[in-house]
Amino acid sequence: MNEVRVNRKAAGRVASGHPWIFSSDIVDRDGAQPGDAVRVTDPRGRTLGTAHFSSTSQIALRMLSPNAEEIDRDFFLRRLRAAESHRTRVVRHSDAYRVVHGEADLLPALVVDRYGDYLVVQTLDQGMDAAKPLIASCLEELFAPQAIIARNDVAVRAKESLPLEITVLSGAAPESATIEMNGLKLRADLMHGQKTGIYLDQRENYRAVAHYAHGGKALDCFTSTGGFALHLAAHCESVEAVDSSEPALATARANAAANALTNIDFRQADLFDLLSGYASAHRQFNMVVLDPPAFAKSRHSVEGAATGYKEINLRALRLLPPGGILVTCSCSHHVSESMLLELVAAASLDAARTLRVLDRRTQSQDHPILLTVPETHYLKCLILEVV
Ligand code: SAH
Repeated sequence: MNEVRVNRKAAGRVASGHPWIFSSDIVDRDGAQPGDAVRVTDPRGRTLGTAHFSSTSQIALRMLSPNAEEIDRDFFLRRLRAAESHRTRVVRHSDAYRVVHGEADLLPALVVDRYGDYLVVQTLDQGMDAAKPLIASCLEELFAPQAIIARNDVAVRAKESLPLEITVLSGAAPESATIEMNGLKLRADLMHGQKTGIYLDQRENYRAVAHYAHGGKALDCFTSTGGFALHLAAHCESVEAVDSSEPALATARANAAANALTNIDFRQADLFDLLSGYASAHRQFNMVVLDPPAFAKSRHSVEGAATGYKEINLRALRLLPPGGILVTCSCSHHVSESMLLELVAAASLDAARTLRVLDRRTQSQDHPILLTVPETHYLKCLILEVV
């Protein structure tokens, strides 16, 4: 195994429980080749552990283990078993869930999602990409899936000089998979759907939000394949669900039909325009859900994102009378929960609404959060009531 020596700053970062080492903190890369598993040492030559090496990303090393060890079949089987055992404890009411959440499962840059008998993987750095055949073989041994699909059409792979591609690693890809979540049958387009098929990270929030719906009208903004709307339909007179993506809406409509839900109106629109129009028309709803895409994709875009979040929350609040419920989410890691609370507070003042916090939530437990790796915590979901 090649030895990559890092500076004191990087050694300190590893000691603080963070697995990333930046290329500027590498002192000597020895003969490390793209995607190699390497032994990482501090300036005095002491072993910090084993990492995957990336030759092009600013994140040059991702720690895999605090020991010097082979990253072989045995390593992956151990990590994957531990990951699945966590899900056995925390996943309820669903045969679709995230089996591996990268860094939070000590498998940085690897995502594995399970959709019933199918698995979808993402290998997001050179090391995990090189280990793809080995990982697929371990997954076959542990899960005996009907197929394993690699949804590597993810922009971050460009930083690793890896191609953006969708491939089938084993078995035959289905036209679409049907999974069961919270008593609903949901269709997932594993080859072309958003993310790896559907958004699995809101699974627990769907139930929590449905708990606060008592009749009346709900508006599900950024519905994608219908997650919140489908969960709310049984508790509301009617639900209007809006997204800009026609393919996502086609799946959402099929989901409503498959679950015999007839009170959801799915429509394609740009939500910034639609919400303004509804406010001008004095439309009112008992509940509004906001689950926009990440407005802040990097640290540098936080300011613009803040304006976006505030604006959309302001527009949504104008549609809510006293007693109305606002569900507002952010999946930008760079927008912290306290920042989101502040933005929504500012929007509530502008909209002349007083808000009470009913619940402050995050991503489902199959997307675990590591305390020393803030990047693993990305989803915020606030449930608020207009007083
Ligand atoms: N609530 C969904 C996930 C939403 S992801 C669920 O639980 O499954 C964000 C969605 O916002 C995507 O489906 C995307 O198509 C949509 N979107 C992005 N920009 C939009 C815009 N300006 N107007 C309407 N929809 C938009």
